[in-house]
Amino acid sequence: MGAHISIPMYQRAVSQKYRMLAQKCLHCGKVNFPPKAVCKYCLTGSKFEHIQLSGRGKIYSHTIIAGGGAPPEFAAEASCKGSYPVVLVELEEGPKVIAQLVNPLDREISVGMPVTAVFRKIYEEEGVIRYGFKFMPAPVS
Ligand SMILES: [Zn+2]
Repeated sequence: MGAHISIPMYQRAVSQKYRMLAQKCLHCGKVNFPPKAVCKYCLTGSKFEHIQLSGRGKIYSHTIIAGGGAPPEFAAEASCKGSYPVVLVELEEGPKVIAQLVNPLDREISVGMPVTAVFRKIYEEEGVIRYGFKFMPAPVS
């Protein structure tokens, strides 16, 4: 025991590299995610404070993506799974983001449902693995 790299260590490295970094505009205070060169809300601010998103939010709207016509980051999964739910999530910090919903609990998807981000390998292109986030229903507390 000891010399080899454990899987938890590897996962920790990935989640730090691909954590959800956003920018808080120092001009208007809104949170830009993904990061922009110029604030997309006030179109003035170009100085930002980097913040770590919690990954928690609520479903704002949802839809089912069918196999054909999926954007490239979803195409690999679409071709093997057929269709899957995609959600627009309003994060606690304000930004709205679109991502796939993984639903291991098979709960009914509804607007307002609390979700939390999880990091997943999304697709592999020319040997480069792209990571991104998906959402899953937040644990019931
Ligand atoms: Zn701004």
